[in-house]
Amino acid sequence: MKYDVIVVGGGMVGAATALALGEAGLQVALVEQHQPEPYSNSLDTNNDADLRVSSINLASEAWLSKLGAWQHLQQMRLCPYQRLQAFEHQHSVVSFSAQDIKHTHLGHIVENRLLQLAIFKQLSNNVTLYCPAQITALQQDAEHATVTLNSGEVLQAKLVVAADGANSQLRQLAAMGTHGWQYQQACLIALVRTPYPQQDITWQQFTEQGPRAFLPLTNNQASLVWYDNAVKVKQLAALTPEQLQPLLLQAFPEQLGQVEVIKSGWFPLAKMQVNNYFQHRVVVVGDAAHTINPLAGQGVNLGFADSKLLTELVIAAYTNGEDLAAKGMLENYQRKRRLANTLMMAAMDTFYVGFSQQMPLVRKLRQLAMKAANNSGELKNIVARYAVGLS
Ligand SMILES: Cc1cc2nc3c(=O)[nH]c(=O)nc-3n(C[C@H](O)[C@H](O)[C@H](O)COP(=O)(O)OP(=O)(O)OC[C@H]3O[C@@H](n4cnc5c(N)ncnc54)[C@H](O)[C@@H]3O)c2cc1C
Repeated sequence: MKYDVIVVGGGMVGAATALALGEAGLQVALVEQHQPEPYSNSLDTNNDADLRVSSINLASEAWLSKLGAWQHLQQMRLCPYQRLQAFEHQHSVVSFSAQDIKHTHLGHIVENRLLQLAIFKQLSNNVTLYCPAQITALQQDAEHATVTLNSGEVLQAKLVVAADGANSQLRQLAAMGTHGWQYQQACLIALVRTPYPQQDITWQQFTEQGPRAFLPLTNNQASLVWYDNAVKVKQLAALTPEQLQPLLLQAFPEQLGQVEVIKSGWFPLAKMQVNNYFQHRVVVVGDAAHTINPLAGQGVNLGFADSKLLTELVIAAYTNGEDLAAKGMLENYQRKRRLANTLMMAAMDTFYVGFSQQMPLVRKLRQLAMKAANNSGELKNIVARYAVGLS
């Protein structure tokens, strides 16, 4: 089968890429290995939220709304937040509020699967979904790229987008190198039931062992993230909810309240970026291109920004009758996205290193810096606007 573009990986970023291209009239194949579980809000099903949630910033929301996918998510589940707090203890707090940047909210906490389903729902007839399907081979020549699926089907296109996540098989088939490292820390994610009604705040406490984060969800649920050394995190993840609960209450600050653990899991933390964002007719987006410390919840937002720019450039090339894998166009994509992603990764590393230092002098300086940051007025708003993707 012949297409204009093949997108491999139908996670949040790949699905959005296929959606944007399909809406512009391109013929797209979207290859995804797993069928996402459908959403149901009926009372006889287990209606707990998923463990994998993301904080979606205003820029991503605006783009997904323009594509018509956000509206489907609103029919399912999502939790807006108006305030964001980072603190070490009660005397060193930095607070951001939506009011300060004249918005109704700073972002939403959404379940990854529900956002994926919302995007799938909006896919037009121009997008052919191959799911469940995996790729087994890639070939490139002067005119086309050809992908073989495990079903034996052969797909051909001008451009192939690798959106198949951090361990991208397509990136490996295209022999695209990466650089980065594994952090010594990992994070435990726990879905909990809280005694409080839906909250409008997400907060993060920095401790000697690593951050503790609270992300609000609907239906008296919340997602907690506990960063610690990888060995300890794996041990915690092996505990039953009942065993984990008292340890979690001890590790988190009092403002969490008497939560009840529903389920938990853990994730390694790795920083990675591809050396080059394209190789002939293969181009990478999202986690296939970069992974970042989830400290400030930026990973998928960077992925959506990759996807938005790439699809704009490809649609312009399509409209002008140009090659959809023109080198100059892909170089333009690479230059802009590499810079933006590298800057955000550097900011996360500064945070990570800055908050893991426990020498008394460094701690004192950090506390003074947090106090100054909280009172910095317009400077603080500039940081907030950057974090929510407005500048
Ligand atoms: C603990 C944790 C917390 C996070 N919190 C946030 C947050 O708050 N905010 C935020 O912005 N980001 C967050 N992130 C990062 C975010 O989850 C990722 O950036 C995001 O999931 C990347 O989306 P993606 O679509 O690029 O890749 P993925 O979500 O990895 O999707 C890849 C897709 O490709 C499919 N696939 C893989 N291989 C193949 C193949 N060979 N053939 C076909 N299909 C294939 C997979 O099934 C999957 O559907 C967090 C990450 C972690 C680990």
